[in-house]
Amino acid sequence: MARISLDHIRHAYNAKAKAANDYALKEVHHDWSDGGAYALLGPSGCGKTTLLNIISGLIHPSDGRILFNGKDVTNLPTEQRNIAQVFQFPVIYDTMTVYDNLAFPLRNRGVSEPDVDRRVNEILEMIDLGAMAKRRARRLTADQKQKISLGRGLVRNDVNAILFDEPLTVIDPHMKWVLRSQLKRLHRQFGFTMVYVTHDQTEALTFADKVVVMYDGQIVQIGTPAELFERPSHTFVGYFIGSPGMNVLPVSLNGAQARISDQTIALSSAPDVNVGAKTELGIRPEFISLGRDGMPVSITKVEDLGRQKVVRSSFAGQPLTIVVPEDGEIPADPRVTFDPRAIGIYADSWRVGTGA
Ligand code: ATP
Repeated sequence: MARISLDHIRHAYNAKAKAANDYALKEVHHDWSDGGAYALLGPSGCGKTTLLNIISGLIHPSDGRILFNGKDVTNLPTEQRNIAQVFQFPVIYDTMTVYDNLAFPLRNRGVSEPDVDRRVNEILEMIDLGAMAKRRARRLTADQKQKISLGRGLVRNDVNAILFDEPLTVIDPHMKWVLRSQLKRLHRQFGFTMVYVTHDQTEALTFADKVVVMYDGQIVQIGTPAELFERPSHTFVGYFIGSPGMNVLPVSLNGAQARISDQTIALSSAPDVNVGAKTELGIRPEFISLGRDGMPVSITKVEDLGRQKVVRSSFAGQPLTIVVPEDGEIPADPRVTFDPRAIGIYADSWRVGTGA
């Protein structure tokens, strides 16, 4: 498996691109470690597939280099990059049996038949198609065919990386959960370098050690699920990760104080912010206490989710979401306090400071 280095990569589909916004993928400069499981997460159109296709060699980047274990592969076609790929829809040989579909990538590389048999049987067990090994792939359902595609991606263990582009879209929800957990287990067992594209945060957070959050052609944060939750680097990460997402309130800063309308929130130090920047305070709904003390809010809606209540309110003229434990009471004259350790201050959407 390989370390993947993205060396000042940019990509524009229009050859005449000049301004930053002309680029579908703005500059990316990162090293992804050998054996890491990375999820590329972000909304439709943010550049996930473009980046994945640059890694696989389907796209030649407009600028920059891509290296596997320090070797420049930018000009190598996909076939010479020694990678496995699993796409959103099945790519299999309909006329071959399930077994032969899985054996094909191994036999193609001259792996001995006993090793082919051992590996194919391991994969058949993982994708739960052992009973169908001798059936022709043509007769299977779309769901089963996609499991074969997934198996073909995993069958070789001598590849530089395995790339997945939304591979579970056509799989039913229960099987999705099973396959995701198995992918995670396989990753722990074999230490594959895996890159997994998805727009589903649950999928990304359960699969990956490191989640690469993309927004508007940029990587806005690379972090563990806990880091993305606790210290979002960009307001988009706060909003996109977590359910409900982070509250983002427009504030004006005065030294170590954040002001919103007639309310003042004390910060432990004065954030370092350029004059004229758009300043915001971010706080997750789980770190706001609702009680009889603090700043006044008016409640607009309470959603009872069983283990917790999601309270929608208006605070200083802005919408504010609060998560209250299932037995938490909602006072008649509700007030809120913010946990200072959970406050983030953002300038032009990027995190610059904290509350504590
Ligand atoms: P999705 O989840 O919808 O696949 P994505 O995050 O993978 O989205 P990309 O497919 O990488 O995003 O697209 C990034 C941007 O590049 C989008 O604005 C898209 O319209 C544009 N784009 C993608 N492919 C092409 C192409 N072949 N020609 C021109 N523009 C393209």
